[in-house]
Amino acid sequence: MNISNLIRPSIKALDPYSTARDECGENRPEIFLDANESPYDNGINRYPDPRQKQLKAKIAEIKGIYSDQLFLGNGSDEAIDLMYRIFATPGQDNAVLMAPSYGMYEVAAGMNDVAVRKVRLKEDFSLDVDGMLSATDSRTRLMFVCSPNNPTGNSFPQEDIEKLLRDFGGVVVLDEAYIDFSNRGSLVPLIEKYPNLVVLQTLSKAWGMAGLRIGLAIAMPEIVATMNKVKYPYNINILAQKMALTKLDEDAKDRRVAEIIGDRFRVEKALAECPKVQKIYPSDSNFILVKVTDPEGLYAKLLQNGIIVRNRSQVKGCEGCLRITIGTPFENDRLLDVLGVGPGKDRNGVERLGERHVRLTRKTKETSVSLELDLDKGGISEISTGLDFFDHMLEQIPHHGGVSLRVKVEGDLQVDDHHTIEDTGIALGEAINAALGDKMGIARYGFVLPMDDCDAAVLMDFGGRTEFQWKAEFHREKVGDMSTEMFMHFFQSVCTGAKCNLHIEARGGNEHHKAEAIFKGFARTLRMAAAKNEFPYEIPSSKGIL
Ligand code: PMP
Repeated sequence: MNISNLIRPSIKALDPYSTARDECGENRPEIFLDANESPYDNGINRYPDPRQKQLKAKIAEIKGIYSDQLFLGNGSDEAIDLMYRIFATPGQDNAVLMAPSYGMYEVAAGMNDVAVRKVRLKEDFSLDVDGMLSATDSRTRLMFVCSPNNPTGNSFPQEDIEKLLRDFGGVVVLDEAYIDFSNRGSLVPLIEKYPNLVVLQTLSKAWGMAGLRIGLAIAMPEIVATMNKVKYPYNINILAQKMALTKLDEDAKDRRVAEIIGDRFRVEKALAECPKVQKIYPSDSNFILVKVTDPEGLYAKLLQNGIIVRNRSQVKGCEGCLRITIGTPFENDRLLDVLGVGPGKDRNGVERLGERHVRLTRKTKETSVSLELDLDKGGISEISTGLDFFDHMLEQIPHHGGVSLRVKVEGDLQVDDHHTIEDTGIALGEAINAALGDKMGIARYGFVLPMDDCDAAVLMDFGGRTEFQWKAEFHREKVGDMSTEMFMHFFQSVCTGAKCNLHIEARGGNEHHKAEAIFKGFARTLRMAAAKNEFPYEIPSSKGIL
């Protein structure tokens, strides 16, 4: 097959735009007075490398191909558009698409005035290879196959794709946007065997760089050279090129992929228990197509709960279906909770791991807090908030409280320590409240603690009211890396979350000791007030209710 014959004559004849830097050969200029840029260096005053040499070299190495077999576009959407521009004459030629599939193949055809012929996937979403071939005529220049397919999630056997490559006289564009999630290997090596194969991949999915807009087309050098000729000269901006180079960490990508696939199995299993779910289509990707009884209703319900999925129920072949992307385990749990098949969490997102053992994740735009608390079993103290002094203080709680505590916080410390400390306080309070459960048989009250030159009194009542009192003054702005004003704010947040009365008083000269005495006092108080079976009565209240 001679690829040259497939390229539109006007494109073959095109004299591409050429920059002065393309024309300077092996010379390495030091002073750039060619492109009417600003001469003042601010990191972005120069045009980016139009051929993206450095980034291509790195991607080519990862993919095991040569740089001249790789085109980089502003997302793979750019490469899709270029396929039409290069191979299909507007108003005359046509392309064969499989359906349902990714919408841009048809949109880009429309933009280029190229007719499409859609061939439905079979009932089980397998590829209708003969149907695709018989849909072609003498004016068919392109065929698009997406594997794993969006939105059905399945992928197609190599034999099917090879048959199309052999028997179709035009270019087969194989979109492997989701290949990193697939059990089947990429078919990139086939470009050596079939000059009419163009494989599309992207950094937007498994690589986690959708915001950069970098798509890949991998094909024989003649096609890649033609794509380079037709693209806008500086199609990938300097920041995207630089950032991609720093983020191309294969190990990190593989770890994320494994996490996502692991959680996809869990989500699939949980969804199977949901009475509204009629069918879960087998997925070879990072999303699942799910047929449900009431797609519009369920879509609206998820949206009301702050979760957006892709409603594909109006797409032919996907009637009744929602397409759900696999998120973080926390996000997936939220989804499952709304569908009534969550991992046993209550309305506050608390997961119960034992009688007084809970785990919760609290996520806002400012922080992400994961916290696990076991009131009945000590021994675990794993604290990481990004603030060393705060960690040191929180460690007093398991140590002196006889509880197990795991806290991991990712907060906006670049702003300041406020949100990190506040949200940790709220999460700890909520965990205490959830772990206490019905509060049957607890001591309820509790403490006074001396520490060297300081003393702290922490009084607590788990009666259900939330009165907070604070009498402690700090005279330095910070102790370690923690703002002293945040000591009060932290305990106020705990008090709100835990729904307890909390009165704290501390005196003394050394600020570090004073803070530590309060945290120790709090830990001892918690231990005392949460202790079970201290008294013969079950409900420690003369009202008979807590
Ligand atoms: N191909 C498929 C199958 C897709 O689902 C998508 C995006 N949803 C793309 C290509 C576009 O990817 P990019 O971000 O690289 O433009």
